[in-house]
Amino acid sequence: MTTIIDGKRFAIKLRADIARRINELGEAHGITPGLAVILVGEDPASQIYVRNKARQAHEVGMASFEHRLPADTSQPILLALIERLNRDPAVHGILVQLPLPPQIDPAAVIGAIAIAKDVDGFHPMNVGLLSSGGEGMVPCTPLGCLMLLKQQLGDLTGLKALILGRSNIVGKPMATLLLRENCTVTIAHSQTRQVADECRRADILVAAVGRPHLVKGDWIKPGATVIDVGMNRTAKGDGKTRLVGDVDFAEAVAVAGAITPVPGGVGPMTIACLLLNTLTAACRQRELVCN
Ligand code: NAP
Repeated sequence: MTTIIDGKRFAIKLRADIARRINELGEAHGITPGLAVILVGEDPASQIYVRNKARQAHEVGMASFEHRLPADTSQPILLALIERLNRDPAVHGILVQLPLPPQIDPAAVIGAIAIAKDVDGFHPMNVGLLSSGGEGMVPCTPLGCLMLLKQQLGDLTGLKALILGRSNIVGKPMATLLLRENCTVTIAHSQTRQVADECRRADILVAAVGRPHLVKGDWIKPGATVIDVGMNRTAKGDGKTRLVGDVDFAEAVAVAGAITPVPGGVGPMTIACLLLNTLTAACRQRELVCN
């Protein structure tokens, strides 16, 4: 029988563990991990994400600092704020919500965040540390996917993994993480030939494409573990929308050994891993081991 991987439940357990560790950190060392989130503009989806991040940070006992800037904010103003947060000892993690308005270069912004406070793991130095086996910050979504895979499968050594999508925030770091777990990794993208055949060879299939229901049941190796990162809003027909993944769940669930649903799979893990990264950042900045 196919296992539905319950990311929501796993994220609740992870947040409870983070809350316990934050409490111990406060009692033993008087430290409260602090997360600063910067939102530029009024993108409705970004506003929801930022609100959820702040709420969940509070719930686990973190300090949360929200900075909402108008859509016409200039790049120098944003960089000056980041510089200030880089120096602020109460702030251990800094996240700039993407996408940014067109007058701002995201690479310049990401590159301005202190490496130790880059809880999104997007700074080129953290990207380099991840691929060279160093101790950097790991991007939240792939980190959450890896946790779900390991709790489902245990040791991943020798498994064939196919990552559909090669973005800097999901596909590439996911591939690096699975390579670190000794998987044999293939990355497929929009130019890949016979993509369904590539997928069918995989014991682990991670779909991060942004195309609703692209992955059909006959793309999946029987018994494979499928992680659906996709978050696509589609019309329901009654004027409302619903969230669907990159995998055709109804077809895939009949073939896969285990699969994440959308919603309730990868999504809840992303914010939980952001909180985990902020805790990790706080511990490292004070040279403490916080287990
Ligand atoms: P992205 O930057 O748009 O990258 C999409 C990737 O998919 C690209 O590498 C693209 O190939 C590839 N692709 C597009 N069409 C394809 C096709 N027909 N066959 C094979 N590959 C194809 O997207 P992203 O930021 O990685 O996000 C992917 C999805 O994950 C989106 O739905 C996003 O909303 C979701 N997401 C969810 C979370 C979460 O917390 N759950 C977090 C981040 C993203 P090329 O490189 O050749 O263009």
